[in-house]
Amino acid sequence: MLSIVVEEPGKLVIAERPDVPPAPGEVRIRVRAAGICGSDLHIHHGRNPFAVYPRVVGHEFFGHIDAVGDGVSPDRVGQRVVVDPVISCGECYPCSVGRSNVCTRLQVIGVHRDGGFSQYACVPARNAFAVPSDISDRHATTIEPYAVAANVTHRTGADASDIALVYGAGPAGLTVIDVLKNVFGATVIATDRLDERLDIARQCGADHVINTARDELPATLERMGCAPTLIIDAVCHPSILEEAVRIASPAARIGLLGFSSEATALVQQEMTRRELSLFASRLNNNMFPRVIEWMRAGRLHPDRLISHVLDYRSVEQAFALIETQPHLTRKVLLDLTR
Ligand SMILES: [Zn+2]
Ligand SMILES: [Zn+2]
Repeated sequence: MLSIVVEEPGKLVIAERPDVPPAPGEVRIRVRAAGICGSDLHIHHGRNPFAVYPRVVGHEFFGHIDAVGDGVSPDRVGQRVVVDPVISCGECYPCSVGRSNVCTRLQVIGVHRDGGFSQYACVPARNAFAVPSDISDRHATTIEPYAVAANVTHRTGADASDIALVYGAGPAGLTVIDVLKNVFGATVIATDRLDERLDIARQCGADHVINTARDELPATLERMGCAPTLIIDAVCHPSILEEAVRIASPAARIGLLGFSSEATALVQQEMTRRELSLFASRLNNNMFPRVIEWMRAGRLHPDRLISHVLDYRSVEQAFALIETQPHLTRKVLLDLTR
């Protein structure tokens, strides 16, 4: 089988690797399509502290089960599936309180173990979720990024009464905007520095857009007479949290998706005076079933999220496209059918 392997930071190759049978409790998937995530680029550049090399990257992927290991029903062979990349132990403290996505022995497919940018991938059977026939192969690859959006909106308790500010209209921000507007019915304000991205944000349901390269955010919100009750940081720069606590409404919630290792200077008074709540959100906690239902019901807009589909042999071009053309790229998918 052919796999896309980051052999070491900066070195991406398409390698012929031996076919492996699924271990007990696992299924083997013939991967058909996979989405590229910022974290795949980080592993490529050696900026992910959890990655061990060599690594087959990719954690947003769809395919057909072609073999099952011991203990897995053979009826699953042929099933169309999408993979939740979160593998947890079921025994530690976070697992015992229903927070398996921050398991102390967390293994993320495509980070801690080999992922989906490969013709075949073996994963635990319980991580492979059946995809109904009315969700297309390509749309199914976006279930994982939508699950990340489902997680942060669940953590922060989004609802229809919210005036939600979403920092960043890249792929992560767009999924959050789509879920906030079209699942929860919130009023959504989106920010970005690129007009092209803000156009897509509007198409995903943003009620207002602010280009922060031109307009200063706090002043613009003040002119609009608006204090966000929910703020989601999908840019993930440490300076944003400092601003968010200043512009939030009293009793607002702030959701963080970022992985920056830089310090943030928070003013305690701003937090306590208005009793703000801060929620960090990592990956997703069993959100696949609900995202599959939302997608099936036509509430989400994966079409607007996907901007390009390239043959997987062009993976280097696909990575370069994302890095050099942020105004034109959203989700770039790899086609692994051939
Ligand atoms: Zn991702
Ligand atoms: Zn655990």
